[in-house]
Amino acid sequence: MTENLYDVMIVGTGPAGSTAAIYGQRLGLKVVVFGDTPGGITYMIENITNLPGFLGGISGTEFGVKLFQQAQMEGAVFTMSRLEQLDHNGKAFMGMDANGLSYTAPCAIIASGRVPKRLPVAHADMKGINFCSVCDGPLFRDKNATLAVVGSDNAAGQHAMTLSRVANKVFLICRRQTLKMDAAHQQLIAQQNNIEMLNGTEVTGFAGLDFVEALIVKTREGKTSEIPVDGVFLAIGWKPNLRMLQLRADTTADGYLKTDTRLMTSIPGLFAAGDIREKNMYQVLTACADGARAAKYVSEFMEKPNG
Ligand SMILES: Cc1cc2nc3c(=O)[nH]c(=O)nc-3n(C[C@H](O)[C@H](O)[C@H](O)COP(=O)(O)OP(=O)(O)OC[C@H]3O[C@@H](n4cnc5c(N)ncnc54)[C@H](O)[C@@H]3O)c2cc1C
Repeated sequence: MTENLYDVMIVGTGPAGSTAAIYGQRLGLKVVVFGDTPGGITYMIENITNLPGFLGGISGTEFGVKLFQQAQMEGAVFTMSRLEQLDHNGKAFMGMDANGLSYTAPCAIIASGRVPKRLPVAHADMKGINFCSVCDGPLFRDKNATLAVVGSDNAAGQHAMTLSRVANKVFLICRRQTLKMDAAHQQLIAQQNNIEMLNGTEVTGFAGLDFVEALIVKTREGKTSEIPVDGVFLAIGWKPNLRMLQLRADTTADGYLKTDTRLMTSIPGLFAAGDIREKNMYQVLTACADGARAAKYVSEFMEKPNG
């Protein structure tokens, strides 16, 4: 048990968790990180083009692996297993990972990100409904495929752009009349002649036997129709990953952790970084910044828990 005693437990190996591990180690903390995916969800990003310092961008997978290696080089311990439970015994945080091993630390940083939502319609888990165009888009290469992306934000725009290179045609279907996408993404999409935008269109169901064959859609005017497709990619919102937390921390109505200016949750010693917390910009850069700050505040908290 004493072998598994750390200064801080970090939940998540994405940009927030890995950066917290790098900074934590450099601040002299003994860090353990839980998670099984180096880089978190950055593997879903074909090319991160908005990271300062990376002219021409960097692939999400390469960035994620480098972050992970850097944190390892700093000496952070990666369990390569997910944390199943995070609790507090009155003195310290207690964690149990997927291998049944226990860990103890006076502080913890939750950097567990979020997962994409499914549509609340019948057959929502049918085969052919995907979330990652970088991972699953290549399955449609050279198949003259018609694909649909459902969503209206930058992630939806990136899926559409990625898929437009493997598919014959891509429908970008958005329930709203106006997109939540930034101007740079909208401009790229407008230049791609095999992407067709269907604004003000709601997906009300999926048709097909085992594998999705068509989307059932309804326009604002109430007209229902079917769009035959070979595959669908969803980008319709997110659900925070908080299942491991056995403690009652304050969250928003959507389940995001609320934090103070030191990134501490309503539970003393429990910090949150990256997409898991309530904020107004869910990006790699802001996740890394959160990770660095959370590590700094953990180190300050350990020196002065009541300060
Ligand atoms: C398609 C797409 C395109 C994007 N494009 C860009 C872009 O171009 N530029 C940009 O800046 N941002 C982009 N983003 C957003 C960016 O990827 C996220 O903001 C960023 O990855 C958040 O980092 P994070 O560390 O908070 O969470 P994540 O990257 O989600 O990492 C959290 C990790 O924790 C894991 N986890 C969850 N529960 C547990 C547990 N119990 N135990 C252990 N691990 C757990 C998760 O599985 C995940 O691996 C994009 C996102 C998507 C989906």
